[in-house]
Formats: sequence, structure tokens, C-alpha cells
Amino acid sequence: MITDTEGIILRQFKTVNGRTMLVMFSRKLGKISVATNMTGGGKNRSALSAKPFTYGKYELYKGRELYDLNSGRVIESYYGIGDDLDRFSAASYCLELTDRILMEEDPQPRLFGELTECLRAIENSRGNEKTLTIAYIVKALDHTGTMPELDHCASCGKDMTGLRPAGFSVGDGGIICGNCCDDKVKTNEGSLIYTVNFDIINILKYFKNEPFSRFEKIRLDDRLSEELMKILKSYMAYHLDVKDLKSEFMTF
Ligand SMILES: [Zn+2]
Repeated sequence: MITDTEGIILRQFKTVNGRTMLVMFSRKLGKISVATNMTGGGKNRSALSAKPFTYGKYELYKGRELYDLNSGRVIESYYGIGDDLDRFSAASYCLELTDRILMEEDPQPRLFGELTECLRAIENSRGNEKTLTIAYIVKALDHTGTMPELDHCASCGKDMTGLRPAGFSVGDGGIICGNCCDDKVKTNEGSLIYTVNFDIINILKYFKNEPFSRFEKIRLDDRLSEELMKILKSYMAYHLDVKDLKSEFMTF
């Protein structure tokens, strides 16, 4: 069966018998592994379309077990990302996160759109790569249905509209109220509770609710970025087993 789809190449790897495989986030089919012979020659158009960071249009042949790449054409290649270490690190992190967070063959067309916008924004970024990365993490959590609870106490369900959260409980998966926080601290469940203020919660809500195009010129201050990243990393490790990304030491 032959099918075509737009896709973003997340990474390449070699199988034990020396075949080159692409891990592609395709718009139509979700994350898939695709066998390819199009890596030699360097400069030909199909070979370029098989490189990581490329957003392309691909024709695939579905055999009994796996996909083969018949042909590929570059739509956007985000050349500017490779010119700058901060951009490269942030974009690498976003691709690796996408690879880790997606299930095989589970289409996520809205997240696909966010990733193309994110890569475009990182390519044109001016010192706000970390902010864009955090925004993308929030979009990835939201679209895959794993967004932290920000409106109610994640432990007792109390409506927290207008109330100051007492903390962010990683174990409970979101903000918690004062009563629940006190109980948890007493019973030694406090180790995964982070102090949060309105800024942190409002930024998370803003990234969740606004389109990615709004974030292109935003730059959070370093202290806020670090706090947000600490909470999100702990949350993703606990709930999604997404941790120890190869690219994260470069970014955060
Ligand atoms: Zn509560």
C-alpha cells in the first residue's frame, strides 16, 4: 500500500543489519519508523528530505511490517537552527521530547502543527529559545492529554479560581490547596511539592491557551524559566517516564 503524508524527521538510526531508519512524526499516521536508502549522495533532494529537523512531504510504502520511504521532498528545512548552538539545543530538545512523548501510530495533527511553528520560531529566535521550548512542552502535554491540573486542587478537587495555590504537587499532577499541602507535608509526601506563585500558573495557562505564533517574541526571565523547567521535568519524569533526554543538558 502506498500513502503520502507530511512529516517531520525526528531522528535517524541504524539497525543491526546496517539499514538506515527514520523516526518520522507524520501528520497523518503519527510517529512511525521508516526504512530508507536515501541517505547517500548528500546533496540530492530526497536525501535532504531524510535529515533530522526537516519538514517534508513523503511517499511511503507500507509493507507487512514496516514503512519504506519511496520519495521525499523538503517543505521547510530550518537551516537557521544549525547555525547557533542555543537554537540547535532547543530544537533538539523539542524533537527528542516529541519522540519520547508520542506513541507509535497515534496521529496528533494539532501537535504536528505546533511543532512546525515551534521550529520556525526557534529558527528566528533572538535569545528566547528556552521560553519557546517551555511553551512547546506545555503544548505537547496539552495535546497528548497529559496537561497538569491548574484550575482545581489536584488532590481534593476544590475550585482554585482566584485562589493562591499552596504548591504544585507532582504526585497529584497539579496545583494543590492549603489544606492538602499541609496534610502532605505532615505525612512526608512533601518531597515532590514545589512552591509556585501566580506567575508560574498564569504562564502555564497562557502557553496552553494561546496560539504558538503569540510566543515568538516572548522571553521569560531566567529565574522563571528555571523554576518552570524544574517543575515540568519532574512532572514528565513522574507521570510519563520522560526523563534523561540526551539533549537536555545542552538546554537546561
Ligand atoms: Zn485540596
